[in-house]
Amino acid sequence: MDFIDLKAQQKRIRAEIEEAILGVLDHGRYIMGPEVAAFESQLGEFLGVEHVIGCSSGTDALLLPLLAFEVGPGDAVFVPPFTFFATCETVALTGATPVFVDVDPQTFNIDPDKLAEAVEKTQAEGNLKPKGIIPVDLFGLPADYDRIMPIAEAHGLFVLEDAAQAFGAEYQGRRLPGFGEVGATSFFPAKPLGGYGDAGAVFTDDGDLAAVIRSLLVHGQGRDKYNNVRIGLNARIDTMQAAILIQKLKLFEEEIALRQAVAERYTAAIEGAGGGAFELKAPHVPEGYWSVWAQYTVLTPRRDELRAALSAEGIPTAVYYEKPMHLLDAMAYLGGKPGDFPVSEHLADRAVSLPMHPYLSEADQGRIFAAAGL
Ligand SMILES: *Cc1c(COP(=O)(O)O)cnc(C)c1O
Repeated sequence: MDFIDLKAQQKRIRAEIEEAILGVLDHGRYIMGPEVAAFESQLGEFLGVEHVIGCSSGTDALLLPLLAFEVGPGDAVFVPPFTFFATCETVALTGATPVFVDVDPQTFNIDPDKLAEAVEKTQAEGNLKPKGIIPVDLFGLPADYDRIMPIAEAHGLFVLEDAAQAFGAEYQGRRLPGFGEVGATSFFPAKPLGGYGDAGAVFTDDGDLAAVIRSLLVHGQGRDKYNNVRIGLNARIDTMQAAILIQKLKLFEEEIALRQAVAERYTAAIEGAGGGAFELKAPHVPEGYWSVWAQYTVLTPRRDELRAALSAEGIPTAVYYEKPMHLLDAMAYLGGKPGDFPVSEHLADRAVSLPMHPYLSEADQGRIFAAAGL
């Protein structure tokens, strides 16, 4: 059994993928070929967002807007500590300071009450200037934008959505990313919409911001790439990845529904068994939220035993994330210590992700339930 089965999907569209790759080999425009603009416009239509900028990874999709906002030394950017490293890494890379805000124990996403407190505390201390917020839609579940956006507005902060795991999720009837000034996603192979290599995209309705990001994408180009007007990156998406992702996007709507069905079966089994032998707690999806189920992550006080029992039956699991960001060596310079963010630390001790992909069969899921004591 695979944790994420990419082969089942490839089998469905292998011929289309080969044709798409051959198309790129035939026209030979490997950099910014016609598939790039076509993919960007399809993504924009899918989300209802005006400007889409394909880029080389989810990490660059976070870094580009931070550069566009001219975030740097002395600035505070508020981020959750329970996430993938890129969320705070990109902030640190600009010279700004990631200020961690603990997450909600139910949704695993940034806690709006603690966010408001942290912004006010930072402002009062006066060492750092509050500049922006990066909410993460962890495991595919949207952050609480109805409560985050007013905090941002009240303090003049930008909101950059880290929707690396949540492309296509929904919050109050609107698809993600689509709430902050700008959103970022990743097409890393294991993400809900994944390519065959690294890729990402930036989304915004702000035309001026989009123009700056397009310039940053190609070495801060002005009229052309030899007329540089700002310090930028080489962060373009490959034509080849765009060609592949166009084919995968055609299946995506259906795959979201299949993921939802897999998640519902997991939750029904866990709740039906009252958590079962390993005292599992199913993920909570509040009213008005639609997860895209990048991961199906449960909590258990007996994680090692559960993983061993599943592994003995050939069932893979993964732990996202073993260490919250404030306890990583790379972030030690911020002075974080155990106890600083108790909810994130609790989740890091108890969270475990079960196999999740659109093609997980009911038979395989039945084997997982049996091994997990459900
Ligand atoms: C995967 C991920 C990223 C980075 O995306 P890459 O395409 O791997 O660079 C950023 N943030 C979160 C929350 C992620 O899960």
